[in-house]
Amino acid sequence: MNFYDIFQPSPVQEIQFCERTIFVKRDDLLHADFGGNKARKFYGFFEEDLSRYKKIVSYGGHQSNAMFSLASFAKLHNLQFDYYVKPLPKFLKSNILGNFRNALDFGMNLIETSDYQKIMSGEIQFSEPETLFVKQGGAMPEAESGVKFLAKEIETFAAENAISELAVVLPSGTGATAVYLQKHLKFNVFTVPNVGDAEYLTKQFSDLVPEANLHPTVWDSTKKKYQFGNLYPEFYLIWQKLFAETGIEFELLFDPKTWLLLCENLKQVPYPILYIHSGGTAGNASMEARYLRAGF
Ligand SMILES: *Cc1c(COP(=O)(O)O)cnc(C)c1O
Repeated sequence: MNFYDIFQPSPVQEIQFCERTIFVKRDDLLHADFGGNKARKFYGFFEEDLSRYKKIVSYGGHQSNAMFSLASFAKLHNLQFDYYVKPLPKFLKSNILGNFRNALDFGMNLIETSDYQKIMSGEIQFSEPETLFVKQGGAMPEAESGVKFLAKEIETFAAENAISELAVVLPSGTGATAVYLQKHLKFNVFTVPNVGDAEYLTKQFSDLVPEANLHPTVWDSTKKKYQFGNLYPEFYLIWQKLFAETGIEFELLFDPKTWLLLCENLKQVPYPILYIHSGGTAGNASMEARYLRAGF
């Protein structure tokens, strides 16, 4: 199955935000069930002959964007999909929304395990020849080829619009998308850590790309420590403001902190900016429900 049979290069849209003109690369529009940077990161799998596999095995959070993308990838390729999670809180089973709902609808085989740490650490492995094992969040060398195409699309956009200097901004989880993008892009990449701090993110970069001169610039919050997945009024506010002012629904887990930091650091980039909408909006239903339950 060829990637570009399913996906077209994503469009770029111009918006006004934080008193600046900002280009938005709409990777969220790549595919309804399979958008954003996960489509980019799994590009390599589209190009691969998967006929020797019977199933995909992965692990991670029960609301993860990667989980939903893998579920839809597995369905598209008629592969079984086993997904390992920590034991789930009881209330969740009566309140299934967002990525979790979608992935189950696509036939994901959810496996709650108390051995979760051993899967994370690699102590438990899934090395059967018919199993395609995907690391959490898709942080893997196979992610590079698809992100390279994203870099090409961005350079084409810049050339067509006679832009000679461009700042490319995107959120990071594992950092795989950002570091491979910087490796293949002639413009500067700026990113914001969401899962850990700047130090964790830099280590992640080094695991995938040892050369420090090929790493993106990291912007982190100096005023406040944010915990991944927690609710913050300023996150919900900027997400709502983005929608009100641009009409674009951004993602509610990674995008808010990234936009806050972008607005804070705008003066550092006196040249055009391109923000990559990395998709994941299918997960917003469950995130927004949490904000509403918390009384925001
Ligand atoms: C997965 C994801 C990220 C993080 O991507 P990494 O390559 O792990 O850094 C950022 N934004 C969205 C919307 C995602 O789904």
